[in-house]
Amino acid sequence: MTKHLLFFAALFISLNTLAQGVVKYAISFPNAIHHEAEVAITLPASNKDILIRMSRSSPGRYATHEFGKNVYNVKAFGPKGKPVKIRQIDGDIYSINTPKGVTKVMYTIFGDWVDGTYLGIDETHAHMNMPATFMWVERLQNLPIEITFNDLERYKWRVGTQLKPTNKSGVFTAPNLQYFMDSPTELSDYKTVVWTDTNTDKKQQKIRLVMHSTDDQEVTTNFSKMIEHTVQEAKMVFGELPTFDNGTYTFLHDVNSENDGDGMEHRNSTCITDDVEKIAGNESALIGTVSHEFFHSWNVERIRPESLEPFKFDHANMSSELWLAEGFTQYYGELILKRAGYRTDQEYYKTLGTLLNSVLNSPGANKYSPEQISRMAVFTDAGVAIDRNNFPNIFSSYYYYGAVTALALDLSLRADFNKTLDDYMRVLWKNHGKTEVPYTIPDLQKGLASITNESFAANFFMKYIYGSEKNNYEALLAQAGLSLQKSMPGSASLGTLKLTLQDNKVRVISNTVEGSSAYEAGLENGDYLLKIGDQDVKSVTDVNTVTSNYKPGDEVTLVYEHRGNIKNVKIKLRENNQLEVVTVTGSSATQNQFRDKWLSSKIK
Ligand SMILES: [Zn+2]
Repeated sequence: MTKHLLFFAALFISLNTLAQGVVKYAISFPNAIHHEAEVAITLPASNKDILIRMSRSSPGRYATHEFGKNVYNVKAFGPKGKPVKIRQIDGDIYSINTPKGVTKVMYTIFGDWVDGTYLGIDETHAHMNMPATFMWVERLQNLPIEITFNDLERYKWRVGTQLKPTNKSGVFTAPNLQYFMDSPTELSDYKTVVWTDTNTDKKQQKIRLVMHSTDDQEVTTNFSKMIEHTVQEAKMVFGELPTFDNGTYTFLHDVNSENDGDGMEHRNSTCITDDVEKIAGNESALIGTVSHEFFHSWNVERIRPESLEPFKFDHANMSSELWLAEGFTQYYGELILKRAGYRTDQEYYKTLGTLLNSVLNSPGANKYSPEQISRMAVFTDAGVAIDRNNFPNIFSSYYYYGAVTALALDLSLRADFNKTLDDYMRVLWKNHGKTEVPYTIPDLQKGLASITNESFAANFFMKYIYGSEKNNYEALLAQAGLSLQKSMPGSASLGTLKLTLQDNKVRVISNTVEGSSAYEAGLENGDYLLKIGDQDVKSVTDVNTVTSNYKPGDEVTLVYEHRGNIKNVKIKLRENNQLEVVTVTGSSATQNQFRDKWLSSKIK
């Protein structure tokens, strides 16, 4: 999906096109109300057998998903429209063997899930992520694609997509399967706002918002102004916007309380779904996803790890670099909101506290490095399974882990090298983004050395990227007049627990966390907590009320039920380890200046 590949692919295609033609897709919605669509794929004439399949992964989602489960009524036709035999050889793969070749494949697809990965159809819209919607033929994946969206008038829909429009209504093209699969498409009666950005090279590019929500045009336009401002603040980090293919970047945004909240980056667009009723009143929450996803148009779409290149559609790519691709994007997503004025100081410090707390108190992050944790995305990124797992003790979000690593690097560069993380991002942009040369972790280390020195970069990567050592956040934040501290010092706690009231008893519904009193007591997911000391536990809030009567170090007996057996276990209560970031009273002018330089808007 890099420019390089696209360029060579383009040459290859133009030669190939003559010989082999185009793969044509058409999608219709005769039964949108029940979430079905009919897909027809016309293949170039050939007398070869074909294997046609659904994907099992989707760009930007890092776990494997089974899109084949929603495909049925698969049929194939030969050159004269005669039905030909098909054989389902795997859940999502069909083999079609016929001496005269195959020219058309048709099937029904069901989709009732609106997010950045799946397909959602009803009479208000068809929200399409391509891997969840369209089958493909592996040996034809380099051919150009033409797609026709039917039934637009019937439902009063228009087409929102990064695909290239043609002069025929409802007909779009993609240079190859990689680009097609990377191009989510929203068919709906959306509202739109388009503006122009003059890039640093003086070239103009279009940025547009395609908003499917029940808000009026005024609310949509006002929200687009927030997006425009966020885009400008993000642009200041790199000094320029990427050059978008076809000269346009599209925010595909769907807001509805039935949605699943999600954001998914693509090369020239992003697909954002929010699970709230409307934009109005939720602007400040919605802009958060915009900030994160747009930063991806540099970091991961163009500054791209070798491990994601090319993107595989039959099985998710595993990457050791998500601490940078997602984690640094998480850091900048939040920082840009602060710089743009969409977060107050206090809100920003609270976010930093949440990030640091979740990493420094995570058994997973204490045991494993950011690059190891990145590889777990193949299981954790909306991966679906019915059995329980031990993620609370072996995993830590690579978003948060990477974000606090970015924070430490930013503060270290500012304090020790008179540089910033923005400088580092610009180096990566120059070496790997603009040039679209996929990177490896040693490349990232080399880039860091170029603005610091060999030993700083080697040390940083050895300890904090390949290793699980933690930066000294107290000292780093102190330079900005901020303090990382316990938010409830001196209070006793069983540790982080998810609880619910079931059959009038308080049930534990998460793993207990290593190092906590609850873990030491042997309490487990599914157990019922009955008593702490001599106090009965009758409601979820009782747990905190009861433990707050004790001090750290106090011994109590925990009474709980495990698979019908009652257990009495004596434990020592620990101190609540939750962390927060707050301002230091009476910070010095130097500290304030350091903080301002870091957090203030970069728009001149
Ligand atoms: Zn992301």
